[in-house]
Amino acid sequence: MSENKQHIIIIGGGPAGLEAASKLGSAGYRVTLFEKEEQTGGKLRTWYKLYPGFRLAEEVQDFLANEIKINVPEIFSNAEVVNIIPDNKYHTVVLADGRSFIADAVLIATGFELFKGEKKEEYGYRIYDNVITSADLEKKLRLGQPLTTANGQTPARIGLIHCVGSRDKKVGNVYCSRLCCITGVKQAIEIKHHLPKAEVFNFYMDMRMFGQNFEELYIEAQQKWGITFIRGRVSEVAENIDGSLQLKAEDTLSGRPIKMNFDLVVLLVGMVPADRTEAIGKSANLGFTSGSFLASADAQIKPNETNTPGIFVTGTCKEPLSVGETLSDARSAAVRIISWLREKREIN
Ligand SMILES: Cc1cc2nc3c(=O)[nH]c(=O)nc-3n(C[C@H](O)[C@H](O)[C@H](O)COP(=O)(O)OP(=O)(O)OC[C@H]3O[C@@H](n4cnc5c(N)ncnc54)[C@H](O)[C@@H]3O)c2cc1C
Ligand code: SF4
Repeated sequence: MSENKQHIIIIGGGPAGLEAASKLGSAGYRVTLFEKEEQTGGKLRTWYKLYPGFRLAEEVQDFLANEIKINVPEIFSNAEVVNIIPDNKYHTVVLADGRSFIADAVLIATGFELFKGEKKEEYGYRIYDNVITSADLEKKLRLGQPLTTANGQTPARIGLIHCVGSRDKKVGNVYCSRLCCITGVKQAIEIKHHLPKAEVFNFYMDMRMFGQNFEELYIEAQQKWGITFIRGRVSEVAENIDGSLQLKAEDTLSGRPIKMNFDLVVLLVGMVPADRTEAIGKSANLGFTSGSFLASADAQIKPNETNTPGIFVTGTCKEPLSVGETLSDARSAAVRIISWLREKREIN
């Protein structure tokens, strides 16, 4: 390992931050990573199995934890970053407790949050007990909890609603969250793994199966598992007297209105930038996408640079990405930071 005194700060210890940290650490740089939670791992800590191959999220978590043990000496947990003070030579990173640290380069990897299901009041999340989100379902599966209705019954019919909080002007998010379609396919199959007799229906606007083996999984969901996909925009979910749910939609292929009863409804909530990301971006004079994610300097040739030299972005703080895409993007960010620091060293 080469001796290198240049210092890189990484904000966020999810898959993006951990992978970039380990690559930069193995290249001999001094790397400090700040994670606001008690543990690193980001959303991998709460997901159960990952599409498309149904491997345990825990396995990827362990892979990243092992890499980091070897390569990165300084990880601070319970350390929330609140802003960055940019400067020509060194950038200052400020924590919520007031401490500040300087670095030659800063990599923002603050990830995403889930769209708050209750903002789509017409779907009844947090109003009706049998309406849950995709994240709630992941948690149940990860914890090995039974898939029951709120009163402990085995649900006979389950509906999954796509595009909740995405592609929706009413909530201000016109972008597509990219991953909820494949998450919906994965979760519908997982439901059938646990409840083979249940009828499962997915209500979608378009099926966006862009990744390797995604389309194949979509076909398997229909042919092997008997899951029904209905092209229809759901207008409302209402509770019946017995606690089951009535879902109203328009079948956009036949043009006919639909009314169906379900025992459990799962909202496939979209991805929005993490809480502090906007404030951090503004403090460092960064640009934003129309969905308030952090903007790259150039989508094709500078995907990890920003318009502030020395401040870089990676992972889902930029846009919705799968775990595989996030890890590739983190490696790309590490390469771009190394090139930039080499140039900086030669100039100084
Ligand atoms: C319901 C759902 C299911 C999914 N299932 C799959 C799947 O099966 N397969 C797949 O490939 N992908 C899946 N994904 C996508 C996957 O979750 C992301 O690709 C991945 O989590 C992105 O990693 P990240 O590091 O960019 O962000 P995150 O996982 O969000 O990590 C960001 C980290 O930064 C920390 N942080 C945030 N702000 C600060 C701050 N100010 N200071 C310090 N730390 C901070 C956070 O605490 C967190 O630890 C799913 C997504 C959803 C919504
Ligand atoms: S990925 Fe699918 S469910 Fe998610 S916003 Fe895009 S079209 Fe809707």
